Amino acid sequence: MEKIFERLNESQSAAVKQTEGPVLILAGAGSGKTTTIVSRLAYLIQAVGIPASNTLTLTFTNKAAREMKERSMAMIQNAAYPPLLCTFHKFGLLFLKFNIHLLGRQNNFVVIDTDDKKRIIKKINSDIPTPLIASEISRYKNSLMTSDDAYKQAELFNYKQIAEVYGEYEKYLHENNLVDFDDLIALTYKLLEENKELAEATSQKYQYIMIDEYQDTNELQLKLLQKLCMTHNNICVVGDDDQSIYGWRGAHIRNIMEFDEDFEGTNVFKLQENYRSRSPILKVANALIEHNRSRLGKELIATRGEGEEVSTLNSQDENEEARKVAAAIQKLLDAGVKANEIAILYRVNVLSRSIEEGLNRARIAYKVVGGVRFYDRAEIKDLISYIRVITNHHDDFSFKRIANKPKRGLGKASLDKIELAAHQKGTSIYEYIKTAELEELVALVKKKNANTLKEFITNLENVAAVAKNATYEFVEVLEDTFHLKDIYAGMPDAQERILNMDEFYALFRDFVKNHPETSLDEFLNELTLQSDQDEVEGDSIYMMSIHASKGLEFEHVFVIGMEEGFLPLVGDGSDLEEERRLGYVAFTRAKETLTLSHAGSRFYKGRRSDLAKSRFFNEAGLCEGSLKVEKNTAYKKGDLVRHKIFGTGRVLGVSKSGREFKLNINFAGSKREILASFVEKL
Ligand code: ATP
Ligand code: MG
Repeated sequence: MEKIFERLNESQSAAVKQTEGPVLILAGAGSGKTTTIVSRLAYLIQAVGIPASNTLTLTFTNKAAREMKERSMAMIQNAAYPPLLCTFHKFGLLFLKFNIHLLGRQNNFVVIDTDDKKRIIKKINSDIPTPLIASEISRYKNSLMTSDDAYKQAELFNYKQIAEVYGEYEKYLHENNLVDFDDLIALTYKLLEENKELAEATSQKYQYIMIDEYQDTNELQLKLLQKLCMTHNNICVVGDDDQSIYGWRGAHIRNIMEFDEDFEGTNVFKLQENYRSRSPILKVANALIEHNRSRLGKELIATRGEGEEVSTLNSQDENEEARKVAAAIQKLLDAGVKANEIAILYRVNVLSRSIEEGLNRARIAYKVVGGVRFYDRAEIKDLISYIRVITNHHDDFSFKRIANKPKRGLGKASLDKIELAAHQKGTSIYEYIKTAELEELVALVKKKNANTLKEFITNLENVAAVAKNATYEFVEVLEDTFHLKDIYAGMPDAQERILNMDEFYALFRDFVKNHPETSLDEFLNELTLQSDQDEVEGDSIYMMSIHASKGLEFEHVFVIGMEEGFLPLVGDGSDLEEERRLGYVAFTRAKETLTLSHAGSRFYKGRRSDLAKSRFFNEAGLCEGSLKVEKNTAYKKGDLVRHKIFGTGRVLGVSKSGREFKLNINFAGSKREILASFVEKL
């Protein structure tokens, strides 16, 4: 037990020990919120004696969940079961696996990713932009609105149309036994809402619930949590209003601001020390976030002492930026810094490409978290489609993707005819080909094609027979039967694609090894959840979007693309305060050094555009080169200043202290010497 409290301060310990009732831990970046949650989980299991299976700990990204799991397991000695610690979506998936039949659906459903979702929508409607429909469907689902509700509420013609597409889309998902990401949470809630006994039993099972990054929960997630807590109200959430970065996805800062209204009898704990970043980094982050109006305004005190000042890289264009970043990273690596302690962060994924080129030229190994991912590659999608069709004959979508891969002489026209005939019979393409007489097929397509289709189904059936469960040999049989590596034969990038396919096969075998009792659809679902937030480990530096970096920390952080238009991203519906919070999240990932980079122009969307330096440099008190708090030099005797702790005071004198200015200030009669950057001029 000492181990649990070893590295906790008083407030953290108090929060850990407050096991009963609602608990809100509200604190800034790097103040040890996640540490507290992880310790609390260990305390419940190790010291209080709560069975691990009666706890539930949720967060938002796979990487964060994995790290939390490792950290808590290190503190727990002998739990019979590991505690359930996962993302909201993973929890929904597990819950639906056991309960979706209560909604009249089958338990062997397949989860589709956002890419699939868009393709399905596009198939239904091509008039209205697909991304708009996709995000509206998402919004409806998160507001628990059916397509009928959406239709009734719609005033504009366009929105009537969107509601209709939503209805068709739902029908398609049902018929093909698919669920999308939003369903994982919306259907879970629906089940609990409609089934009181199930809700009570589920709540009884999870006696102690903990949520990290609570500021990013939306209304639906709050409702779900209230259901889960209905029999005990033991919920502990941690969050930081300054790090709320999912407003665009419906996250509600109100959830954290009004937590005590949603959960009665809340105990609030505040953590004030920052244990992560050197003080110059914290100073810059604090200065930036202070420009936001809607915030609770928490204090954060640096505990890690002085360090290198925040530096700026000025480049003419993205190529120069890439060179400079690569050179700076090489210097760190040469000095013995571990690669996985270095991260490059960006607001939008497109910015990663030029940097990738720079790193490649410099021969620096990197891994991209999220963005253009392994699972998004065509060859991997092909393999996944094969497995999908094998597990789910109703997946027409995947069937059409693979029908002519490798080439079997089946053109789009033939497939369209088959699809039409299948739909007229109210069945899927697969089942139709399987059950139709050969003559029936020959009436639709050339004899040669009809034979090919029949043979294709027979082969799929044979492979499926081998793969009743996901066995080690499955991928070999799959490859031997269909020669999938031939799909890309002769293409210039064939070698790379085949390597990727081998990597996928290896990944499959690894999964089977770790989950001996598994089935193919479990493998598929795991994959879909993983690909939402790709995982990477090992001996390379990280590149990721700021969104994906939430909750993580690195010794050295580079934030690229600090220009107006990129960070802050300005455009339709963008919210400057949320952009600032993104800046704050990015800056506060850094422990030792923070480097902010901007380019004078970028090649973007087909043309080169000049860009202005981000206003965040100014707001954070940064000028060219290094940290320089402009206001320092401007102080003179007699100025009125405000200090966060001592309040308002009058400057009695100014002197120099290293690179900074020291002020002698009279705070209501008591005189103190304070560094100029710690006060604000009034
Ligand atoms: P974020 O807001 O970015 O999610 P956080 O509040 O969750 O940050 P943690 O990740 O828990 O912060 O902690 C930040 C760092 O501080 C970690 O390296 C952690 O090990 C360390 N830390 C946490 N609590 C203490 C403590 N009491 N003493 C020393 N170090 C601590
Ligand atoms: Mg955290």
